[in-house]
Amino acid sequence: MKETSQVFSQAKREGRKNLLETEAKTVCTDYGIPVTKFELAKNEDQAVKFAEKIGFPIVLKIVSPDILHKSDVGGVMVSLRDEGETRNAYQQIMKNVKKHKANAKIVGVLVQEMAPASTEVIVGSIKDPQFGPALMFGLGGIFVEVLKDVTFRIAPITEEEALEMITEVKAYPLLKGYRNTPPADINAIVQILLSTSKLVMEHQEIKELDLNPIMVYEKGAKTVDARIVLE
Ligand code: ADP
Ligand code: MG
Repeated sequence: MKETSQVFSQAKREGRKNLLETEAKTVCTDYGIPVTKFELAKNEDQAVKFAEKIGFPIVLKIVSPDILHKSDVGGVMVSLRDEGETRNAYQQIMKNVKKHKANAKIVGVLVQEMAPASTEVIVGSIKDPQFGPALMFGLGGIFVEVLKDVTFRIAPITEEEALEMITEVKAYPLLKGYRNTPPADINAIVQILLSTSKLVMEHQEIKELDLNPIMVYEKGAKTVDARIVLE
């Protein structure tokens, strides 16, 4: 699609393989994958203006081609409730980044809506040299990181296969609802898997893709962090 191609050609022109979060989320939106509302601020006043436009609480994140793991350098501040907290967080992020990576090129600060906590899932893709793009699915946090409770399919996948991926992980019962947690919108996850399949099939230059985490609600879902690496 048009915007996706523009994002990829600009990154290639600038010799960047790791897309910025803004770029990865623009690609997601282009393919109908829901992401948190975001605006790129170039200074503190602009960050406040965007925060008011998006609506509190908000999240601020550093945007830099030299920083892959934003929270590792103190580059992510969540649950900011008003103008004062936004200004403090903006200054703190700049301080943290200067301390951890003095030479990092700073593109700006991403202002985004704060996605309410919910069940977290992960959708990913890696390109297998033999089979081409493959899709991955799992539940967030310990399920992927500790228990390796994930499932894979070679792309492209059908709607039926997407549903199979979701139901075959061990943690699946958590998505059906338990105790005070309502059932998650399974169809929203199916749609994200299908859109991701379409994206990686149409853009074979994608080496890795990570939507992590995606918050899944009773109705709908929202991608909180997106990472795309080009070949
Ligand atoms: P990185 O992975 O580069 O450190 P993330 O964008 O994943 O940075 O942010 C770190 C964590 O902060 C996320 O895993 C999530 O728990 C939280 N977070 C980030 N953005 C949001 C958001 N818009 N709404 C809610 N939580 C968020
Ligand atoms: Mg992340």
